[in-house]
Amino acid sequence: MPNKTHIALALVIVGLLVGGFLFLHDGAEPAVEEVPIVVEEEVIETISAPVESRVVVGNSVEGREIEAYSIGTGEDDLLFVGGIHGGYEWNSILLAYEMIDYFKNNIDVIPENITVHIIPNLNPDGLFLATGLEGKFSAESITSNAMHASGEGRFNANDVDLNRNFDCKWAPESTWRGKVVSAGTEVFSEPEAIALRDYVATISPKAVVFWHSQANNVYASECENGVLPETLAIMNAYSSAGSYGAVPVFDAYPITGDAEGWLASIGIPAITVELETRTSIEWTRNLAGVNALLNQFGK
Ligand SMILES: [Zn+2]
Repeated sequence: MPNKTHIALALVIVGLLVGGFLFLHDGAEPAVEEVPIVVEEEVIETISAPVESRVVVGNSVEGREIEAYSIGTGEDDLLFVGGIHGGYEWNSILLAYEMIDYFKNNIDVIPENITVHIIPNLNPDGLFLATGLEGKFSAESITSNAMHASGEGRFNANDVDLNRNFDCKWAPESTWRGKVVSAGTEVFSEPEAIALRDYVATISPKAVVFWHSQANNVYASECENGVLPETLAIMNAYSSAGSYGAVPVFDAYPITGDAEGWLASIGIPAITVELETRTSIEWTRNLAGVNALLNQFGK
């Protein structure tokens, strides 16, 4: 049986424990408040998107990787694509790789709401066929110009002109400067075209720019519903900043199944930038053109 002494002792112990707890609790309060904040900040930093990343978005007919580089963390995506005509237009690939390096080293020029995506070479088999090169390369490493006359290196390894394989007025045969070219066995029959289609579905870009050569112009795009107003706006912004001609409607020869037209058909503004020559990247002009688009879409 507990006696009065035991009860008094127990009350004192309880009192001390409660008092101690309250004292410690009070004293520890700021630390208790701070801990979750620090943890949350660390967690946020860990899970946020990396500032730059490289993904493989598909493989060519011969199994070469098709890469996409993403730089920035904004929710509005802009996509730039080089090399759809492979080694025949290798300068468009070189320009794209230079642009990737530039943005990696100058991330601050990208507005906060924007992420820049660059697929440097949509046709790596075409580059390899014409030049023997794979991946990133330098202008000095280009030693063969044999492909210029024949168009060698323009097509993929199935001999398909990739820029005729997309879902806009597609036909099995199309034209390139009066020659008949294969447009594939059906819409999106080629793995390179599928890679672009799927990447566009993944990022839902606000606009897409294709680098080609060599007409010294920026072209708008359309499929069956005319040119989107935003397409005209980016055509004008890029062409005036980069000192290229602006061509709202391409009518030099009939084209079917082009990637830009397909994008227009799904409501995505797209332009074709044709460099002036087949060997220069016209760095200052294209940087000005790209910056004009960053200004246009930046908030
Ligand atoms: Zn081209």
